[in-house]
Amino acid sequence: MSLESYVWAAPKAELHLHLEGAIRPTTILTLARRNGVQLPSSTVEELRDWFHFRDFAHFGEVYSAISRCLRTADDYELIAFELAEELARQNARYAEVGFLPAFHARMGVSEATYLGGLSRARERAQRELGVEMAWIFDLGRAWKGGETETRRWATYAVDVAIDARSEGVVALGLGGSEVGHPPEQFGALFDRGRAAGLHSAPHAGELVGPASIRGALDALGAERIAHGVRAIEDHALLAELAARQVALDVCPTSNVCLGVYSSLAQHPLPRLHAAGAVLTISTDDPALFGTTLNGEVALLADPFALGVGAIDDILLNGVRHSFLPARAKQRLEATYRAELDVLKAVHLGTRVEDSAS
Ligand SMILES: [Zn+2]
Repeated sequence: MSLESYVWAAPKAELHLHLEGAIRPTTILTLARRNGVQLPSSTVEELRDWFHFRDFAHFGEVYSAISRCLRTADDYELIAFELAEELARQNARYAEVGFLPAFHARMGVSEATYLGGLSRARERAQRELGVEMAWIFDLGRAWKGGETETRRWATYAVDVAIDARSEGVVALGLGGSEVGHPPEQFGALFDRGRAAGLHSAPHAGELVGPASIRGALDALGAERIAHGVRAIEDHALLAELAARQVALDVCPTSNVCLGVYSSLAQHPLPRLHAAGAVLTISTDDPALFGTTLNGEVALLADPFALGVGAIDDILLNGVRHSFLPARAKQRLEATYRAELDVLKAVHLGTRVEDSAS
């Protein structure tokens, strides 16, 4: 019985992970063979090493190798269904998964191809695994070819996202290098998506400080912020995020891998929590950062030293701040609460009546 075994067993939801960054190295190898693509290594061990995050240039190389390996609807179904299997292993029953439409379209893959595969995987995940996945279509902050190409591909992503709302697309995201690409450049595109009923969950406050969070709130109507950890540098902004209940989808291992903080000991998660910020916890790019959702959640206990009440709150925030319809959210939260109470009794020796009070 321990807090660690409790968090491993707990039901979870994940709101900040990218499909392209979650593909297993073994699967990349399978896809490369299937589609006749040359990779820098031909064994799983070497590929696993090559996959691990080193720096931004390498990050770009890995992402581009991944994009060359994906050609058919079956390929997309495979990677999305394998993600659902991984979510099931982490006991995550709901996830909002980032996907970069332009990244695939630029390689000549049509929206019918990738949407076909994603939709089949989504249906099978629900039916066979009890895992529900929704998509956050990411515009991409900077594409090769400068501002004109970036605008062209960001517009493409918004068009596809609006058309694919019935196929599980719930929100627009905005990832990629924040430096030199402020949120304000994408305000009109987010306005169009939001007018069509899509939610807003851009990245901000990771490599650029509080100004990018301010821009995401004001120009993009952000309802959640992917990362947002650098809100810790601006107390007024942090208080506003807490008061408006804008959740920060935090990925501690990613922040350390990308050098936002030099170590987990420097990470502001406990201070963000103490300041009243609404937090959720996620993996970002689990295959590239060598992490899992259970691993990230376990960090809340050690080294972040949060108590079980705070951990429950962060786990439940993954449901409460999801883009599920209100009724579905209430039902899922009630199910999670009941399960957490039972798990507390099993793993922590807490009486159910105590934890329910
Ligand atoms: Zn991310």
